[in-house]
Amino acid sequence: MKASLPPPPTNAADAAACRAHYESLDMNKNGLPDWTSLVEGRVSSVMYPNDEDMDGDGVDNVLDPDPIDPKVSRSRLAPNGVPAHLALAGEAGRFQGELYREFGILAIDHTDRHVPATLQTLLILLRHGIPPGTRARLTSVRYVYAFLGHDPSVNIAAYHRQVRAVSIGGEASYGGREFDEARMVAVMSSFAHELGHAFLFDTMSASELHRLGTRYGNWEKALDPEPATSFLDQSYFRSHPFRKLARLAGRSKDDRTEFIGKSLWRESSLVSEYATKNLHEWFADSFAAGILHRLGEKGKLGENWQRKLTRLPQHPNGYWVNYNNLSPDFRAWLDERLDATSPATSPDSPKRLGK
Ligand SMILES: [Zn+2]
Repeated sequence: MKASLPPPPTNAADAAACRAHYESLDMNKNGLPDWTSLVEGRVSSVMYPNDEDMDGDGVDNVLDPDPIDPKVSRSRLAPNGVPAHLALAGEAGRFQGELYREFGILAIDHTDRHVPATLQTLLILLRHGIPPGTRARLTSVRYVYAFLGHDPSVNIAAYHRQVRAVSIGGEASYGGREFDEARMVAVMSSFAHELGHAFLFDTMSASELHRLGTRYGNWEKALDPEPATSFLDQSYFRSHPFRKLARLAGRSKDDRTEFIGKSLWRESSLVSEYATKNLHEWFADSFAAGILHRLGEKGKLGENWQRKLTRLPQHPNGYWVNYNNLSPDFRAWLDERLDATSPATSPDSPKRLGK
């Protein structure tokens, strides 16, 4: 995270030449370039580590106190069980240790500092919302970064498959405040949504996504008749036929609470305005709704929990949410998938992360 790159050649006049220089670096000469600027096949505005162990000292870059010095490798462990150079202090450190020891997921300060409440919320979600067998299969979520730039109401979290991470706001977004119930549910929903993206990539196929969308989401008008072979097919990024209507629903002058609860949405399992953006977001949000229902039924969301699953747009860029629109058929499908996976031992236990 804090490694400084060797400087680019002085004649690197343009961005492409500069990029090409970094993409030619291969510190441990294993044939795997150290850096890439490609994300999902497109040129990104930031370079990503491409070789998980650039200096070849046997410790993954993230866990390596100096990822580009082979003489510096394993860090000693802090009292919470996390490599010392990544250990958080205080209450955040306690939850960081629990997340790492129980789930092999490491919370790391990035451009912001983690607050205890977000990590505690993720712990509740992982402990009670997602069965162990499924958690173990979410191999594309190993790190939780605190990012500057997330806000507490719209752009709450993100999934970064390339670096096997989820990001969430930190002190800049939440300050040192405890979460009230509404905030806790919003953050929990966002984590569940990002895990939904991971669940898709880690455990499903592109054709299964197509089948779900047409069976439970009325996506057939937006999709091609035949399933795509890749999750990243452009057809999977078209918006839902109800997109405009969904936008209106949150801004109607009539009773908006009633409008966002109509059976129309339920028939397509449209649990939020955002879910109409594309098939991926529809799936991630339906997944999140299913997980939140499981948590509610287990008493983890307090009294009258269904009421907490509804939110009207808070400002012009906001969108409505009504997780009660989850279709019972989608829920049944999800429960079957979640509970069918036997509680295997996690392939991402802390032991393995040390390598
Ligand atoms: Zn999403």
